Amino acid sequence: MNKEGLLIVLSGFSGSGKGTVVKKLLEDGSYALSVSATTRLPRPGEVDGESYFFTDKQKFIEMIKNDEFLEYAEYVENYYGTPKKYVMDKLSEGINVILEIEVQGALKVKKAFPDTILIFIVPPGVKELEQRLVGRHTEEASTVRSRMEQARVETESMNKYDYIVINDDINRCVSDIKNITEAVSLETARNKDMIVLFKQQFEQYLKGETL
Ligand code: 5GP
Repeated sequence: MNKEGLLIVLSGFSGSGKGTVVKKLLEDGSYALSVSATTRLPRPGEVDGESYFFTDKQKFIEMIKNDEFLEYAEYVENYYGTPKKYVMDKLSEGINVILEIEVQGALKVKKAFPDTILIFIVPPGVKELEQRLVGRHTEEASTVRSRMEQARVETESMNKYDYIVINDDINRCVSDIKNITEAVSLETARNKDMIVLFKQQFEQYLKGETL
């Protein structure tokens, strides 16, 4: 039987570099990324079905009614949601799934699935965050301000996360996340079948049965 994959939530202030971290994590094929649906407009270079499933508000509300989301949340005047089926399928195939979502959604997922690993990615400091948001050139100045305000609100939820990882050096950040995943996958609670297996094998051995 397949061991269930791990559900890993990555959150972080807008501009913390989560997107780049996720791209690197996906490189070796040991994680799958859930693509969210959103009502916000695509930024330059974003591809429908890859960056997000871009939908209008009416379609989004229909998906809510049809219970198609694992979670959804409103963030800076747009809706964002995690389609349920993909995540469930991958987990049951034994593949680790990454959700790159904001804090309200993260906490909803943790409540519904307490085994979820919540990781919060932070930039080295607030000044660096602002510089990254301004340097991105994809946001209006007023949006930068509202994202900074939103980030301040998000600090209130950081203590509910299982891990906080600093994204100063991208390679270090990625290896920290891999190490966390590796350690969690080895937790006793996630390996109870191993105990059963050893018990059975010792019984067989002590009865003189061939293993
Ligand atoms: P952005 O507009 O910068 O792509 O995303 C804004 C925020 O929404 C980010 O913090 C991102 O992680 C979060 N987000 C993206 N997809 C989802 C989702 O499916 N659910 C929730 N709750 N948040 C999401």
